[in-house]
Amino acid sequence: AKKAGRNTHSFYMPVMNEDATRRLRTEAELREALRREEFVLHYQPKVSLATGRLAGFEALLRWQHPVRGLVPPLEFIGILEDTGIIIPVGEWIIGQVCRQLLLWEREGAAPVPVAINLSARQFQQADLAQVIERIVGASGANPQLLEFELTESLLMADPESAAATLAAIKRLGMNLSIDDFGTGYSSLAYLKRFPLDTLKIDRAFVRDLPEDGDDAAITQAVISLAHHLSLKVVAEGVETLEQARTLHGYACDQIQGYYASRPLPAAECTALLARGQLI
Ligand code: C2E
Ligand code: CA
Ligand code: CA
Ligand code: CA
Repeated sequence: AKKAGRNTHSFYMPVMNEDATRRLRTEAELREALRREEFVLHYQPKVSLATGRLAGFEALLRWQHPVRGLVPPLEFIGILEDTGIIIPVGEWIIGQVCRQLLLWEREGAAPVPVAINLSARQFQQADLAQVIERIVGASGANPQLLEFELTESLLMADPESAAATLAAIKRLGMNLSIDDFGTGYSSLAYLKRFPLDTLKIDRAFVRDLPEDGDDAAITQAVISLAHHLSLKVVAEGVETLEQARTLHGYACDQIQGYYASRPLPAAECTALLARGQLI
């Protein structure tokens, strides 16, 4: 490819395309959204395959936009990351999950762990574990009911420092999951060195089960590997009874997906907590 010269650069700079303009406007709106408390968390159940019971939730971010309605995270997470707004939003998410745990407890529900997604930008903070400790400590929530989900690419960007950060979070009594497993490039050797509790198989491998022989083989191998490393396995994106049965046959521990439930507003989760039995 031809190297872009200085002139080319300065020629194009002032001419902002529509995309860049829209991004800037969205960035300003996102800063406002945090201030006006327009972010909300929905919670998607994880279900034990052995018992069919609720085993936990994953907190998923939405933006309750005054005009556009409920905006899904894929439309704004990238901008939150690029601009660093994910740092204050991420802290709000951790605090909000802690408050929700206490609310459910007050309603008399049997507690289940709630998982929080961490972004690369958050994970690059040298003092992330202290930040988490401060927020959780101030809230009074039980650290053992918190779990953090991290993707392979996030861990593999700097495995040495990732291992240190994970160890610091583990020392706080919280659990750790590797998210979207199979979509990144993780070295299995490193997987063993991270203090992980759970491996989440990406829904790309689940979608065509049980018909796709390759996916069936990969899924069974990953479950077996994870169990040998003493990791619990959650299959993501389970949409059908047949997929759930297949994964049960593979000794997968938990499923998450539309088959059991879509992500739900917190108020609707209270009934699920009371019921316990989901499938
Ligand atoms: P993820 O962490 O892999 O979350 C799972 C996504 O799959 C969610 O999309 C969920 O609604 C969707 N999903 C669940 N079950 C099914 C199913 O059976 N079929 C299909 N087709 N999809 C299913 P969502 O909520 O739109 O989130 C998308 C991504 O945005 C998440 O992927 C995560 O990477 C990111 N994200 C969401 N919330 C947060 C957050 O609080 N913080 C950070 N850093 N990232 C977040
Ligand atoms: Ca996740
Ligand atoms: Ca995932
Ligand atoms: Ca994903």
